[in-house]
Amino acid sequence: MSALELIEVPTGTAARAVFTTRAGGVSEGGFTSLNLGNDRQDPDARIRENRARLCAELGIDPGRVCMGRQVHGAGVREVPDGDGGFLGHLRDWPDGDGMVTATPGVALAVLGADCLPVLLWRRDTHRVGAAHAGWRGLVAGVLEATARALGSPGEAGAAVGPGIGPCCYPVSGEVRDAFAGRFGAEVVVGEAVDLAAAARRALVAAGIPDEAVVTVGGCTACAPGRFYSYRRDGAGTGRQAGIVWAEAA
Ligand SMILES: [Zn+2]
Repeated sequence: MSALELIEVPTGTAARAVFTTRAGGVSEGGFTSLNLGNDRQDPDARIRENRARLCAELGIDPGRVCMGRQVHGAGVREVPDGDGGFLGHLRDWPDGDGMVTATPGVALAVLGADCLPVLLWRRDTHRVGAAHAGWRGLVAGVLEATARALGSPGEAGAAVGPGIGPCCYPVSGEVRDAFAGRFGAEVVVGEAVDLAAAARRALVAAGIPDEAVVTVGGCTACAPGRFYSYRRDGAGTGRQAGIVWAEAA
């Protein structure tokens, strides 16, 4: 049994911001091994075991881990408290690519396999936020909306997790034009767009200080042993996650 490999970004606050990799789970085949997604091709029992292992490693209550049904939109949901679905029903979450909560101990989890998991926190309160940001969500404004819901962006920090890099993400001219129009020409790299650079632009445009935004980096498609990538592997691949919560004082 391999150990979990987690990427934790120091926040300097009570918030903890963690990104997962493929290592340390029980899923097999294209889902090997720490698949945290909800693809029905991976048996539910394995998904539950992976999620339980993650919670045990992090010392958090799976009954207080919340997710949203990710629809590549800009909707943000204020989460009052957990409902057990992380290990329970697995799938039937309310829509929401963005989530925020003010409740210490409530963890927000977003999934990705090329799309960016983005985690946010505030220095002055226990409020935290999380967003799933692919190209559609970025253009739709999911990060600005999540930062707005978090509040006081000047007091906020953010971590942009692993996603697909411009090395592996050629897109249509329409998408490139939408990115250039929204975030500036610098986020277009040849035939590709740079999701992480666009995410930073969006967060800074929302008022979060540039120096308070951390980009984890790495390209999911370039690292098959470490990350899931939908662009690389297509359907039948797993999902890594970003998870954020404030530890109770
Ligand atoms: Zn790459």
